[in-house]
Amino acid sequence: MKQALVCGGGGFIGHHLARKLKSLGYWVRSVDLKYPEFSPKDEVDDFVIGDLRDPEVWQKILDRDFDEVYQLAADMGGAGFVFTGENDADIMHNSALINLNCLYYLKEKKFKGKVFYSSSACIYPEYKQTDPQNPGLKEEDAYPAAPDSEYGWEKLFSERMYLAFNRNYGINVRIARFHNIFGPEGTYEGGREKAPAALCRKVALAPDGGEIEIWGDGEQTRSFLYIDECVEGVLRLMDSDFLGPVNIGSDEMISINNLAKMIMEIAGKNLTIKHIPGPLGVRGRNSDNTLIKEKLGWAPSKPLRDGIEKTYNWILKQVSKTN
Ligand code: NAD
Repeated sequence: MKQALVCGGGGFIGHHLARKLKSLGYWVRSVDLKYPEFSPKDEVDDFVIGDLRDPEVWQKILDRDFDEVYQLAADMGGAGFVFTGENDADIMHNSALINLNCLYYLKEKKFKGKVFYSSSACIYPEYKQTDPQNPGLKEEDAYPAAPDSEYGWEKLFSERMYLAFNRNYGINVRIARFHNIFGPEGTYEGGREKAPAALCRKVALAPDGGEIEIWGDGEQTRSFLYIDECVEGVLRLMDSDFLGPVNIGSDEMISINNLAKMIMEIAGKNLTIKHIPGPLGVRGRNSDNTLIKEKLGWAPSKPLRDGIEKTYNWILKQVSKTN
């Protein structure tokens, strides 16, 4: 039986990944500051509540010969958390400490398995993302580096650190750059939620004929990847010989206005969009999937609408419980 450690297993992607690993027959330990919000903690074999900034926690959780370690823990959130500037110091300090500890203790324990690191499309330079018709970011576009957030700079630093530990200490790393992952059982309120979840919540709460608010003019574009395809991409990368970094994202780009319209259609509601000032991020972002196709013979392919429908229905159920 293979053994996996999921760091950040109480988070959105981490708990979906841990659930998938269990379904594949793995023995799974998750570690996080908190249990998953929307699913039982006993989905995995062992759930450790611990702070991964603390070296003692690493000493404790690495007491088994894990075949695979998935490092997804990070201090993060959507535009309202990452782009206001108010959380920059914590984002950089907390996430860097987690990654510094992870690599140091894997090296100390003479870890022989593979470690996955979740980087982000936020590492790509701002100057490559000024056009809403972005043709897609290729992995090589990362340099010369100029991410538009401190979150992106920490991810880029950590990517390089994982590669350095591979070169100098033979740690077997895999690195993916996720592009806007969404789906059920993710944060949908409270300030850390991402655009698809926030829009689903706003549409679900608005009365038909009412109004929803969108930050900026809504012409900024993004691509969004459904959680199941994200998890599939991670597992395929782990199974491959390719270290990365590689994009795990959809290349179906959409403006925020059109995403809102798609959700209204799914909800069967006719709503007015009111544009208000707010943190925006880059103007246009899309994933170029040439490299993942070449290296893994696979790329995400499911239509955005399918995933949005599942997510909307789940969020509708959640808000109906509390409103
Ligand atoms: P998430 O916030 O739901 O999960 C991150 C988890 O890390 C949280 O449960 C949090 O409690 C945990 N954590 C934070 N600090 C910790 C600490 N000191 N000790 C232990 N646990 C700690 O985020 P997610 O969407 O599941 O993202 C997972 C990873 O993927 C993150 O590294 C994120 O940066 C990366 N990523 C996500 C997206 C996306 O669209 N969701 C896009 C790009 C990259």
